[in-house]
Amino acid sequence: MKLLEFRKEGIYCEAGDFYIDPMKSVSRAVITHAHSDHARAGMKSYLTHTQSREVLRLRLGKNLPVETVGYNEPVFMGPVKVSLHPSGHLPGASQVRVEYKGEVWVASGDYKTDNDGLSEHFEAVKCHTFITESTFGLPIFRWKPQEETGNEILHWWQRNQEYGHASILFAYSLGKAQRLIHMLHDKGIVAVHPTIFDTNAALRKDGVAVPEVRSMATLKPEEWKKALLISPNVNGIPESVTCRTANCSGWMTLSRFRSRGNADAGFVLSDHADWPGLLSAITGTGAENIIVNHGYTTALSRYLTEKGWNAMPAPNHNEMKNQEILTERG
Ligand SMILES: [Zn+2]
Ligand SMILES: [Zn+2]
Repeated sequence: MKLLEFRKEGIYCEAGDFYIDPMKSVSRAVITHAHSDHARAGMKSYLTHTQSREVLRLRLGKNLPVETVGYNEPVFMGPVKVSLHPSGHLPGASQVRVEYKGEVWVASGDYKTDNDGLSEHFEAVKCHTFITESTFGLPIFRWKPQEETGNEILHWWQRNQEYGHASILFAYSLGKAQRLIHMLHDKGIVAVHPTIFDTNAALRKDGVAVPEVRSMATLKPEEWKKALLISPNVNGIPESVTCRTANCSGWMTLSRFRSRGNADAGFVLSDHADWPGLLSAITGTGAENIIVNHGYTTALSRYLTEKGWNAMPAPNHNEMKNQEILTERG
């Protein structure tokens, strides 16, 4: 039985008549998290985790018709039992478990297995079929412990202070930004771009313990030189301020992305699972069928097939193209 199928509108559950992270306008959408490649405007109704409500409204409209549930709180869509489970990708991010007539499928959404201390830790949910992401589905991708990367960033920041430079960490406003704030907020002057400031406020309304940090707009001239700025871009930074910039992403594993591009430095810090994380998550589900969606789908499904899983790339999967990598959140 195909409990979930891949349609052009998105992942569809016919028995319950709903879509997961639909790409086109549909009547019932279950949203794993508020990143723009998963949450789009135009759905007649939204179901998401309680910690995603305000941030979804911030991004898609304050009157968005959104209902929320906590983790492990089943709801019924027709005869289908649906529940959300932590994916560890960012606060409120969910995997979707779907059960009908004894058959269980789980769609992972984006996930990471490392505990970042802010998001609820990834849960391996038992199922028959697991639809897994594979953004970093190659053996070269292996993350260091978060604390180690945090120390690398701290040393870089301290060195920049010695030279009187501001330090800018480029980070998208939902997920990576709050993770960096959680890691570094008590190590000196940390200030954020207004978009991140607003995202933090929305997350706090939903009960996420994002530490208080200042908006960049409040920094005094002498503070810039010591500050760590977390921002999606350099907008709002006075021209008189000299700064050093860095990217934080799993893609920084690849030297061609570290050495080339828009920043002076690169730190390997990802909100997705690395290769060992993908394999441990897949093993943890106990699933015999694995559908690999998004990223290095062919490589990962071939590996799993060799190891005895019934694995395949998702139909219409978006295999990662080199030119797309830098635009993909990592
Ligand atoms: Zn995401
Ligand atoms: Zn994604």
